[in-house]
Amino acid sequence: MAILLVDDSADSRTLIKRTLENNGFSEIVTAESATDAFALLGLDQPACVAEHIDLILMDVIMPRVDGIEACSLLKSHKCFKDVPVIMITASADAETLDKAFAAGAMDFISKPVKQLELKARVHSALKIKAETDQRKAREADLVKVLEKLEDANRELSRLSSLDGLTGIANRRHFDQMYDMEWRRAVRTGQELSVIFLDIDFFKLYNDTYGHQEGDECLKQVAAAAGSVLKRPGDLLARFGGEEFVIILPETGIEGAQALAETIRAAVEECNIPHSASKVSDHVTVSIGVAGGQVTLTDTPPKLINQADKALYEAKNSGRNQVKVSTSTAYL
Ligand code: GH3
Ligand code: MG
Ligand code: MG
Repeated sequence: MAILLVDDSADSRTLIKRTLENNGFSEIVTAESATDAFALLGLDQPACVAEHIDLILMDVIMPRVDGIEACSLLKSHKCFKDVPVIMITASADAETLDKAFAAGAMDFISKPVKQLELKARVHSALKIKAETDQRKAREADLVKVLEKLEDANRELSRLSSLDGLTGIANRRHFDQMYDMEWRRAVRTGQELSVIFLDIDFFKLYNDTYGHQEGDECLKQVAAAAGSVLKRPGDLLARFGGEEFVIILPETGIEGAQALAETIRAAVEECNIPHSASKVSDHVTVSIGVAGGQVTLTDTPPKLINQADKALYEAKNSGRNQVKVSTSTAYL
């Protein structure tokens, strides 16, 4: 471990350096003034160039910048705040020591320096520095692990809100968002609409083309419906099986109906063959729409139930069509 020795007396530098070397401390750098030490440590540079210094032995009395001032400056620097400083002082009076400790010194050694004392103090200071370095390294590792964990959690939460097959929002996410949008609509007085969409004769589609083709069909229908939605607040979700639901915040019934019709046409335009369908030779959807202004006296499922009822009507009226809820509760 490297030691920087700052002392204006050449004799003192030689003596201390030799003592340290004789006691097995081999990496010793010397500076004859505080300014020299600052230059050596690269204090004036943006990057920490001398971070390898593990201990600084600092003479107290030096011309221009004295040891206490130098210590205080080093301790305020982000690169050196954890490097222990031992003051070397000829005057171990209380006032000097007080100032030295206030400046951030860890310890002091009296001049003339005694071999055993120097060895013991340097040894324990280096031990503390090594422990501090280890702790800092562990903390840095921990921060990295925590960052990775946060990334993983974000990804997990993203995935947990998506439907594995179609890649659109899943039922769980829909429930959360619907609840939020419903409460927002009550608060702001803005209209809220819901579209329910169900593939026509999808059981027959599976029976005819197989389950795998059925899955492909679900993906295409989801993509077609999604392509129609333009507003960032609109949410398309897989409600379950071959049913999809769309939340349209700040959208009235007319807007929702127009959008539903565009979606119905978009699915039809996909031209997915469906030879077993009783209403067309390709895949079609039936759609139910409900919407309007919601109030606190309404319950959140009401709007969904209305859209579901409208969907049922669309099925009963011949499928491949849009039906709007006739209930006036939200209008
Ligand atoms: P309708 O026009 O009245 O809606 O008739 P339908 O056959 O579409 O409705 P039904 O509810 O009888 O059948 C839905 C079918 O959707 C049955 C089920 O096997 C199929 N299904 C549900 N989830 C999936 C899925 O994830 N993949 C596939 N391939 N099929 C699914
Ligand atoms: Mg169906
Ligand atoms: Mg269904």
